Amino acid sequence: MDDPQRKTPAVRRLRDMLERCRRAVVFTGAGISTESGIPDFRSPGGIWTRMAPIQFEDFLASEEMRRESWRRTFGLRDAFAEARPNIGHHAVAELVRRGTVQAVITQNIDGLHQQSGVPAEKVIELHGNNGHAACLQCGERHELDVIRQAFLGRDELPECRLCGGIVKLATISFGQAMPVGPVLNAERETRECDLFIVIGSSLVVFPAAGLPVLAKRNGAGLVIVNREQTPLHDEADLAVEDEIGPFMAQVVGLN
Ligand SMILES: [Zn+2]
Repeated sequence: MDDPQRKTPAVRRLRDMLERCRRAVVFTGAGISTESGIPDFRSPGGIWTRMAPIQFEDFLASEEMRRESWRRTFGLRDAFAEARPNIGHHAVAELVRRGTVQAVITQNIDGLHQQSGVPAEKVIELHGNNGHAACLQCGERHELDVIRQAFLGRDELPECRLCGGIVKLATISFGQAMPVGPVLNAERETRECDLFIVIGSSLVVFPAAGLPVLAKRNGAGLVIVNREQTPLHDEADLAVEDEIGPFMAQVVGLN
């Protein structure tokens, strides 16, 4: 169980930082979800290295690209539908439940933080969510089951029932601007925290790389937990190269 003899110095150090902090923020990337079987699309061998992503401007410009986009969405659906939160997600959820972590900023679109019990209002999704679709014009939410029926059954592209606008999966595509609200929320949480914990992000995609720098500049402690080294390892107060789930479970005392 929770045997202190087994704790590595890094585990003890992060526990200590979590106990002493006033307000912590967790920032997650693909690395936390690969342990749930979700592929890291950008990694070597990932989907984007085998199949070119559809750029946002092409999606807007061409009905054929919109069809291709929906075909891919429903083709990939199963990998996401079967994914469940892993022990890394549960460790983060436990820190939120204890009140130590105030917000979870994520680059992931899989909704696994919410599934693991983090209240939706505490999850800031920088790249959107692939569990539903939205109108690009008015923002109205559209359910995927309805779109799937019309698209696969009658070959119909979804159109907004309110304004007739183009409906797209509620994720941020390559070439599409980041959503303003979540970006502002993420920056505010980053400025207000005194401990910023990166989990499973390689910190090469902006604004991923910008937020930990902002936190550090504001005097927050910076922790990075990732399987590989990141460009910000030298800036971190604690950098851990390890499997995410097992390490975080030890920190939180879940195993
Ligand atoms: Zn609309």
